[in-house]
Amino acid sequence: MNRAESERLSAMMEKCGFSPAGTPEKADFVLLNSCVVRASAENRVVNKLAYLGHLKKSDPEKVIALTGCFVSDDTASLKKRFPFVNYFFPAGHAPRFDEAPAPETGCLPARAGISSFIPIIQGCNNFCSYCIVPYRRGREVSRPLAEIVTEAKTLVERGAREIILLGQNVDSYGHDLDGIPDLSRLLEELNRLDGLERIRFLTNHPKDMSSRLIRSMASLEKVCEQLNLPVQAGSDKILAAMGRGYNLARFMELVSELRTTVPGVAITTDIIVGFPGEDEALFEKTLKFLENTRFDAVHVAMYSPRPGTRAARELADDVPAAEKSGRLKMVEALQARIAMEASQNLVGSRVEVLVEGRKKGKWYGRSRSDKPVFFEHNENWLGKLASVKIEHASSWSLVGSIDNEY
Ligand code: SF4
Repeated sequence: MNRAESERLSAMMEKCGFSPAGTPEKADFVLLNSCVVRASAENRVVNKLAYLGHLKKSDPEKVIALTGCFVSDDTASLKKRFPFVNYFFPAGHAPRFDEAPAPETGCLPARAGISSFIPIIQGCNNFCSYCIVPYRRGREVSRPLAEIVTEAKTLVERGAREIILLGQNVDSYGHDLDGIPDLSRLLEELNRLDGLERIRFLTNHPKDMSSRLIRSMASLEKVCEQLNLPVQAGSDKILAAMGRGYNLARFMELVSELRTTVPGVAITTDIIVGFPGEDEALFEKTLKFLENTRFDAVHVAMYSPRPGTRAARELADDVPAAEKSGRLKMVEALQARIAMEASQNLVGSRVEVLVEGRKKGKWYGRSRSDKPVFFEHNENWLGKLASVKIEHASSWSLVGSIDNEY
């Protein structure tokens, strides 16, 4: 989300006449886009601000602005804490950089990459007990469907071949709009766009994902067979303490519906280890669950209490840091083995790759299941679809050669 927002903000600043300075030292205007979803990210924001304050002492004309979820509605305390910051903008609120009528952020596409992001819904209504997002990003606000389709068209005209729709919970898209369009309806509209090859979306919420969406994934040819479905823990006890709104049985029903309806679908997930009350037996359940479900990738994080959340207020952070980090490593090791086995199964098969660039003499891109694929070839494949026969596999990427030109 933040990367997409940063791209949109840069595009808007360039439209207002700014050009990139390269470093904060050289810049007349520094806009810091912050993320505070984890304590470590928040610390980085504070450290960056301290450094910018130091730069401003020797260059008092430098203008500093802060946006992103570090900025709450109450900017008075922030002004007191960081008096050298000239402007504070809450996440998703377009600043005006000049006196010319500035376009709404929502209507202004970012620079088009071959794979381009479009935020479709901001905020979250879920209040998982550990999460700061609803407090910092506010409640869910969907962007109008027509506006998203127009932005997608513009991005495709500028060279995008893949659109990734973003939201803290894309399954909630549209419930607050007239006519209540849903994500499936949006996918149907985007699927008709000439020149667009692929559509992805993230992140889903197991509580809100619908059978209609799963059927759309199966029937719309541009929608890739891949999604992120965060489970967070492998026991009902911890899921209840997290306030996630589903149990493991429901999660497994969804996984099985997905795998039956969308053949070959790649499912990735998120796990938090060391949540309050997660003893060894409960952690073992998570390992067993991951072993049995065999996700394509697992993003794992250690629990850290975020002040202001229900978990930080009501639950003791009772898993020692060393234990958390040991559990994180165990999940990573297990997943590396599972991913390696899955990748090895792809050796000898052909995958469709959307080529995004070249690194160290090799073209690279992603398969429809979102696996990074590398191949060597003399022609220019940038932005094209290539059929690649897989010859080597590691846990996280595949290497092959061109099999057939599109
Ligand atoms: S669904 Fe839960 S974890 Fe995700 S953003 Fe909303 S509150 Fe946070």
